[in-house]
Amino acid sequence: MKLHLLGVNGPFPESRGATSGYLLQTEQELLQFDLGSGVLARLTALAPPESLSALFLSHWHFDHISDLPVLMYRLEAMGETLRVFAPVDESSVLRRAVASASCFQLNDIVPGQEVSVGGSTVLVCEARHPVPAVGYRVKAGSRVFGYTGDTNSLPELADRYRGCHLLLADGLFPEENWSGQKPHLSAALAADLAREAGAEHLVLTHLNPLYSPRLLLREAQSRHPHVTLAAAGTVLEV
Ligand SMILES: [Zn+2]
Ligand SMILES: [Zn+2]
Repeated sequence: MKLHLLGVNGPFPESRGATSGYLLQTEQELLQFDLGSGVLARLTALAPPESLSALFLSHWHFDHISDLPVLMYRLEAMGETLRVFAPVDESSVLRRAVASASCFQLNDIVPGQEVSVGGSTVLVCEARHPVPAVGYRVKAGSRVFGYTGDTNSLPELADRYRGCHLLLADGLFPEENWSGQKPHLSAALAADLAREAGAEHLVLTHLNPLYSPRLLLREAQSRHPHVTLAAAGTVLEV
């Protein structure tokens, strides 16, 4: 599998950046995870968006979905439809728009559910965030990829992401800015999660332009031997 990092910032982009959006390329499928601000143009540079096998949303916060209404215009122009998997959030205006658009086939999902897309199995994982949110664990052949979405710590996460070859994790906060009430993990806690889950490679994402990426990397590297900072435009082997 290949993971294309299209947008790695949140909740707003850095200069020339984009918020959350990741394209997972398996042997048979193109699975898109989140479609934040600036992601659609980068996706289009790699593949026609209507060629996606499915779009998986972690939750309905704007930094993860804001390119969806624009994707709707493209799909309508092409006469194409796209399967979208997302948790239910009745408070989301955009969810109502997506649910009523004929170009989107919206599927409600809950943690613990498994979705098959071609040869890939996608497990929906829990997340702890101010709105309904999930993460995903994808198995394709013998390789396993995990994406936490936005989350603070939860005891079951290490089991959910067990054995990931690459874990893409929310590591937004430096240690001194994190608390149990915040909506995100710290980089150090993302590293603890990766270690407890036995994940080979941790990639820190949801990078907030207000925090030093070098500090996040240093704090995570003190807890896990193989940590990379997500960088938009790069491709990683899973
Ligand atoms: Zn976010
Ligand atoms: Zn969020």
